[in-house]
Amino acid sequence: MDDRTLATDAQPGESATIAGWLHETRDLGGIAFLILRDRSGKIQVKLEKDEMDDAMVETGLDAHRESVLQVSGAVEDEERAPTGVEVVPESIEVVAAADPELPLDPSGKVDAGLDTRLDNRTLDVRKPAVKAVFEIRSAALAGVRASFRDLDCTEITTPKIVATGTEGGTELFPVSYFAQEAYMNQSPQLFKQLMIGSGLERVFEIGPIFRAEEHNTPRHLNEATSIDFESAFADASDAMDACETIVRGAYEAVAETCEAELETLGLAEDFTVPEAGFPRITYEEALDRINATGAVDETLEWGDDLSTPAEEALGEDVGEHYFITDWPSEIKPFYIKDRDDDATVSTGFDMMHPRLELVSGGQREHRFDHLVEGFEQQGLDPEAFDYYTQMFRYGMPPHAGWGLGAERLVMTMLDLDNIREAVLFPRDRQRLSP
Ligand code: ATP
Ligand code: MG
Repeated sequence: MDDRTLATDAQPGESATIAGWLHETRDLGGIAFLILRDRSGKIQVKLEKDEMDDAMVETGLDAHRESVLQVSGAVEDEERAPTGVEVVPESIEVVAAADPELPLDPSGKVDAGLDTRLDNRTLDVRKPAVKAVFEIRSAALAGVRASFRDLDCTEITTPKIVATGTEGGTELFPVSYFAQEAYMNQSPQLFKQLMIGSGLERVFEIGPIFRAEEHNTPRHLNEATSIDFESAFADASDAMDACETIVRGAYEAVAETCEAELETLGLAEDFTVPEAGFPRITYEEALDRINATGAVDETLEWGDDLSTPAEEALGEDVGEHYFITDWPSEIKPFYIKDRDDDATVSTGFDMMHPRLELVSGGQREHRFDHLVEGFEQQGLDPEAFDYYTQMFRYGMPPHAGWGLGAERLVMTMLDLDNIREAVLFPRDRQRLSP
């Protein structure tokens, strides 16, 4: 079906069929130009009113902005054209007309609010700066997948409709599952761990997670994309190494393949792959550093979670990606292993961008008895998790892993203000459609 020539591939001296959106019409009197846009870029089409077929010229001039046109003709050199070539048409066909009134201006000349943009995402992504974000997101995920393969991981897909939740703190979305109540999964945590005892050993998943966060914030979605990793015979330090590899792999892929998109976003000059060896600071050191900045009203103490202002103060102080390790066991989930030398300290870690948290991970509790105890301590009924705990009785090796929010990765990589800019159709407190 698609035997057209892309705008930026059109070579002078050839005849070509170009198809794309009518970006702009410039009518100068005796001569007029149509600017067509496709996924590669733009190309000029020349209309000479007195010399060309009247009906064809009329079709071109009558077409509304953003209509899809197909133009066939000769490609010629033209210095004054934006790309140095233009098409001298032999035929112009309207493939799909656009209404004269558009709900938002894809040329970007007229600003639109975020709601209008999200309501009309199809038109919004026609803007080069918005399209660039999603091209970069795609490249980043390709880099992530390639890096996981380098780490000898197998890509898995686990259920999103589940019987039980795991991440206390954030709420679950219930769904009706025939006669039973079920939930949308908050995390592939338990399923990826179940695969550690299988012959796969090292797995990753890139998939949706659902969290009934009550409040709209610039950093939370109700449906997000989680990049998850889990590896047998790994401890927290190994998992942190893998985390660094994956994040750097995403940046490297973008640096290698998205030069034009970074240019479009005005980031080409500043874009750097984070240096290997992200600093690892303990939770205790983090508290001291935050307290020393004076950015938080009350002095933070052992056991306190880090508030957003606390995270921001520390991020500014550190100034690059970094890990926070050795968290108090009491504020990390039950499936994270405590340190062998001190049960009040967990092997859990977070990986932070100076702006916010990107990753949570740790070594997992793989000993059946300790695991069941952990459930009880967290006020969860271990029996409800039998499908999970039972597998720890049949040879579950030590293992570690983490989860990385894909939207937060893109948001911080491109310095976007709002996480909604990094997802096509965000789900938040107000937004369920489109
Ligand atoms: P936060 O404290 O920032 O709300 P969290 O600690 O509850 O996040 P985790 O359960 O640790 O989140 O999930 C691992 C990662 O998944 C987070 O570091 C983040 O990158 C991403 N993530 C979690 N919840 C959301 C969400 N609601 N929207 C977007 N990304 C999320
Ligand atoms: Mg976390």
